[in-house]
Amino acid sequence: MSLLVMKFGGTSVGNAEAIAGLAGITRDHLRTYDHVAIVVSAMSGVTDLLFQGAHTAAAGDRLTYLDIARRLRDKHRDTLAALIGEPGAVGEQVEQLIDEFELLCHSVTVLGEASPRALDAISSLGERMSARIVAATLHARGIASEALDATELVLTTAHFGGAVPQQPQTRERTRARLLPLLEAGVVPVITGFIGATESGATTTLGRGGSDYSSAIVGAALDADEVAIYTDVDGVMTTDPRLAPDARVIPVISYAEMGELAYFGAKVLHPRTIRPAGPEPNGHAIKAVTSIRGMSMITVEGRGMIGVPGVAARTFGAVASVGANVLMISQASSEQSICFVVPMTSSAAVARALEDGLANELARRDVDRIAALDSVVIVTAVGAGMRQTPGVASQVFGALAGQAINVIAIAQGSSECSISVVVAGEDADAAVRAIHALTI
Ligand code: ADP
Ligand code: ASP
Ligand code: MG
Repeated sequence: MSLLVMKFGGTSVGNAEAIAGLAGITRDHLRTYDHVAIVVSAMSGVTDLLFQGAHTAAAGDRLTYLDIARRLRDKHRDTLAALIGEPGAVGEQVEQLIDEFELLCHSVTVLGEASPRALDAISSLGERMSARIVAATLHARGIASEALDATELVLTTAHFGGAVPQQPQTRERTRARLLPLLEAGVVPVITGFIGATESGATTTLGRGGSDYSSAIVGAALDADEVAIYTDVDGVMTTDPRLAPDARVIPVISYAEMGELAYFGAKVLHPRTIRPAGPEPNGHAIKAVTSIRGMSMITVEGRGMIGVPGVAARTFGAVASVGANVLMISQASSEQSICFVVPMTSSAAVARALEDGLANELARRDVDRIAALDSVVIVTAVGAGMRQTPGVASQVFGALAGQAINVIAIAQGSSECSISVVVAGEDADAAVRAIHALTI
């Protein structure tokens, strides 16, 4: 028995034409595989609109979410009409999901706050709509199919907004629910991005999480292949929106893809990766990526030299507010520790540090805790770096050539990436300068 799991991203279900294409691709693959399962994203732009509705509602704005609801009704209704003419039951279901959006946003205005749990309930609606439309389209084209909410399949922790799937239960549920459908010749169309807690609350796996969903379903079903359809032809040397001369990378290793996704290459959700080929040869630097909206925190003081435990207390304070540290660099003189967190957690981190290091500050062992906002991490990735001396100097040379100031640097212990922190306004030029080294 051969099984293919296909994931279709936002643009691949973004309009009636794209969904008709999806149906064609499914039909083709049913000729070579015994079974096919599909994981879908929301139609492109929909998740952003749902979040915008929730946030404006939290701010007390009752008009924007109603306008968004109207736009979502038009978008999904028009798509459905173009694909299957008479929308019938699916049309009803989509209308009900948008009613739910209005109701949830109304509650958010009443509460004056969009909790992570409410945001997950709201942002999950896009996939619920697209899965139903895709399943109805396949059905109308003579392919037996059924839309499924991943809340039935993917059991997660209650970390709303970034929930972690629980492997054994997810495998069990996914197999119990999907194997009989597949056996019966049905193509399941599963919502990406979402899951549910043990008690049934809807969760999401984080932005871009549908890629991860397809890997979860593929692993649970022991699929022969997981194929990800998106708007680019593969993983490229950098984001083609930043550098038009970006090229598709023919072979990429697990470690390289991991670094790229971790440092912001939107093309694949960082947790999706599975070993994808041999270690390649060629250029030491294979690809460049950037991650924006960061803040660099510096803890500085001459009294830190040789004082044990300052780093531990620093990171203890950071962990106490749940901030995600993307990169760390320490000057060899031990007079400062720098690390980078998302700007959204910068204020909370600075406060926690002032509390956690109160004694050191009073004794003047630590002189200063500073946050530099709006910085960008630019990362050069390539497994070949390990064997090639002088890669770091090439990177710095390229940046110096464009008069770009490097605020901090870090090299991953895997020696598969070098990251630099630059000011927000230098980020695009930095990506292009390093990208030129891949050619
Ligand atoms: P989907 O909705 O199909 O998941 P995304 O928009 O999430 O699509 O991801 C695809 C986009 O990722 C591309 O359009 C491209 O702009 C961006 N991207 C960023 N870095 C890279 C990279 N290194 N290679 C390819 N695409 C990239
Ligand atoms: N729709 C979700 C998002 O926009 C998940 C995904 O597309 O992968 O983040
Ligand atoms: Mg994506």
